[in-house]
Amino acid sequence: MKIGSHVSFSDKGLLSAAQEAVGYGATTFMIYTGAPQNTRRKPMEEQFVPEGLALMKEHGIEEIVVHAPYIINLGSYKTATFKLAVEFLQSEIERTAYMGVENIVLHPGAYTDKDVDYGIKRIAEGLDEVLSVDGPVNIALETMAGKGTEIGRTFEELAAIMEKVTRSERLRVCLDTCHVHDAGYDIIDDFDGVMEQFDRIIGLDRLSVIHINDSKNPRGARKDRHAPIGSGYIGFEAIYRIVHHEVAEGKPIILETPWIGKEKATQRPMYEAEIAVLSDNVEKRFGQSFVEDVRKLRAFLNEVLPKEGTPDPAGEDGSPGRNGRGYVLATWHALQDKKKRGDDRREPMERLYDLVVEHGLFPDYDEEQINMRLVGYFAGL
Ligand code: FE
Ligand code: FE
Ligand code: ZN
Repeated sequence: MKIGSHVSFSDKGLLSAAQEAVGYGATTFMIYTGAPQNTRRKPMEEQFVPEGLALMKEHGIEEIVVHAPYIINLGSYKTATFKLAVEFLQSEIERTAYMGVENIVLHPGAYTDKDVDYGIKRIAEGLDEVLSVDGPVNIALETMAGKGTEIGRTFEELAAIMEKVTRSERLRVCLDTCHVHDAGYDIIDDFDGVMEQFDRIIGLDRLSVIHINDSKNPRGARKDRHAPIGSGYIGFEAIYRIVHHEVAEGKPIILETPWIGKEKATQRPMYEAEIAVLSDNVEKRFGQSFVEDVRKLRAFLNEVLPKEGTPDPAGEDGSPGRNGRGYVLATWHALQDKKKRGDDRREPMERLYDLVVEHGLFPDYDEEQINMRLVGYFAGL
């Protein structure tokens, strides 16, 4: 399995990115080649590419992914925005090729003041222009949540773009679990059915990258707010099934889960723990004591969590639900009430953290260490 996360392409470019990924125990990773929200880019010659590639090789990282910046909107009717999108995407593709990377992930675009049909045509026009220059890099259109006017919420929309592109051989698709869930696809109870649809409408041979994120919203919400694995509406079990599904085999699987922690400055990603639980590598990575900590945590939570009010079948008997599922879902459900303020807005994983601290369960651990054990708890360790 190739699994990793988004990492930052900071001061030492590809070398920093590879170092960060190795620190998470990753076997792939994804980068933006500069700030995703602007077009300032350092020349690739200054991005420690040979050094990064050497470190990747040393750690068995064969395939990585580039994500195009989200300021690119090929769906825009505005000449300047569209032109910038085409040119900047073209230069990002050159940077991607420079590193020998095969796939660049792209948000198809948004139609803003026009309509879906306009957007689809415009995006196809832009892609045709970009693809008129030969090269080794594929463009993987990402499945989107459908917030605002973004295109790519349905497989049909992606297929419509691909059909309109003349030189479509280099088009691929990136499946994002949070996005498809928010778009309305039932990847929790019917991932096979969703993949059948994908195959029929787009073709599974086009699937080349998978983004795995839990979601802060129920299916069909069209929101696009990522949550750490197991702490959202999708849940660990569904995501575990997806990463071990045959459609994911050999493909880069990338976490884009949010960083968490009370203090902005000390927030950390849960990537290392998430990678370990999804690849059944926890004991090797963190040792037997980590697993024991999670068991202690589970015994504690079974004691203190509320015994009622969970909408999750797993918690029907009034228990917090297996691995906290009932509690997590009940809390998100309560958070749908936007009138809640302050501490009442704390998310499920944050509340579990608060409980652990309040009861002094792990007095010697910092916030990150506690949160990593919560990831283990959600995973059913
Ligand atoms: Fe994306
Ligand atoms: Fe994504
Ligand atoms: Zn997203």
